[in-house]
Amino acid sequence: MKTIAAISTAPAVGGIGVIRISGEEAIAVAQKVFRAVSTTKSLAQMQGYTAAYGFVQSAGGQKLDECVALVFRAPHSYTGEDVVELSCHGGLFLLKKVLEAVFAAGAIPAEAGEFTKRAFLNKKIDLTEAEAVASIIAAQSEASAAAALSAKEGALFQKISEINESLVSLSAHLAAWTDYPEDDIEALAQEELEAVLRSAIEECEALLATFEVSQIVSEGVDTAILGRTNVGKSSLMNLICGEQKSIVTDIEGTTRDVVETSVRMGNAVLKLADTAGLRESEDTIEQIGISLSKKKAESAGLILAVFDCSKSLGEEDFALLQAIKNKRAILIYNKTDLSAVWEPDFLADYGKPVVTVSAKSRAGYEALVNAVEEALGTKDFNPYAPLLATERQKQCLGTALSCLREALAALHSGLTLDAVNVSLDAAISAFLELTGERATEKITQEIFKHFCVGK
Ligand code: GDP
Repeated sequence: MKTIAAISTAPAVGGIGVIRISGEEAIAVAQKVFRAVSTTKSLAQMQGYTAAYGFVQSAGGQKLDECVALVFRAPHSYTGEDVVELSCHGGLFLLKKVLEAVFAAGAIPAEAGEFTKRAFLNKKIDLTEAEAVASIIAAQSEASAAAALSAKEGALFQKISEINESLVSLSAHLAAWTDYPEDDIEALAQEELEAVLRSAIEECEALLATFEVSQIVSEGVDTAILGRTNVGKSSLMNLICGEQKSIVTDIEGTTRDVVETSVRMGNAVLKLADTAGLRESEDTIEQIGISLSKKKAESAGLILAVFDCSKSLGEEDFALLQAIKNKRAILIYNKTDLSAVWEPDFLADYGKPVVTVSAKSRAGYEALVNAVEEALGTKDFNPYAPLLATERQKQCLGTALSCLREALAALHSGLTLDAVNVSLDAAISAFLELTGERATEKITQEIFKHFCVGK
């Protein structure tokens, strides 16, 4: 494979900028642009994990910048190949000049994610660990960072391999038994066969159940604040967003300043439509009333339904309660600083968690965080457990699970062991696709194209 190079630090001005070179010729290429000052050794004479101070020069021999060159020897590097990292000053103009010199010395530009892709192709990491690299970079909270790092260290890969190993040995046994019936291969008792399949199915179901929570912790959940006019929706939004530190991201809109705000509540990230959006839709709510609430309720993963305790409940409040009947929702009994004309117990009858708050005086915020975490299941989130982190992983696991269920059904319906083994093999294939041990070039390309250049 050709030797590649790219600026690995962010494309912005910084204290230090790093150019990474990877491939068989990495050291020879770096040697052409680097002149050591701190040592008489050439880069080729240096061992892995050692550094030299010096300067980088252009193809024409012009000094460009001071530099520290760090040498990694295959296979002990990020990519598994020889790697040299040139740490220069973090000015973009100069970094680009150094990169040009590196290209002139024989390297070619790295594609998006190509360093990580090479790490995958050189079996330094599996696909779940490669995907975790992207998650580490994207992490916005302690919980999501810890989960991503744990996945990078192989938490999911090990779990999948463990399940798959039991299936591979089962499949081998079945194949031997059905192919060579005359040989004296110990017949697998039906119960034993069933036990292995059942246990794998249970493990898959448990893993699938981690997907939603892990998404809520990393990406966030679409959250709608609903309620009739003046119950305090905007005030609640302000209460939630008021905790400055809780804001994760503001997504810029084209016509307005902000269209969506992500806030953190405990381990959960809530994606909220902004206050301006709520205000703008007030008229519409009045015009088409309940139908809009219903629509919003349908698409949201969490609903905060707000009620004003200082005013009698009206038709719209009851319509809202009806619309969210089958949804994950928290009922907010607002304006507790005013004298109430009805009791929160009334809401409790609807079988959903009720939180009493005064959005205006900011009372009840902790209870709200608690209720949100309970409702979303993020309270006991364990970032070190094996977790499904991407839609791709979820799909592969879903396929494996349905194949395992088919295998079990084939066994129960008295089909031949051959038929059981066909489904079992399909499940194994799905697991191998998940880890990348049997993934097509198309799949790997799809994953790495979303990475940044230099990663
Ligand atoms: P929205 O129409 O549902 O978005 O309601 P707003 O948040 O705009 O609030 C309507 C009115 O109720 C405003 O005058 C708020 O100041 C007031 N309000 C909201 N929450 C509270 C509260 O907890 N206590 C009191 N006293 N007033 C509140």
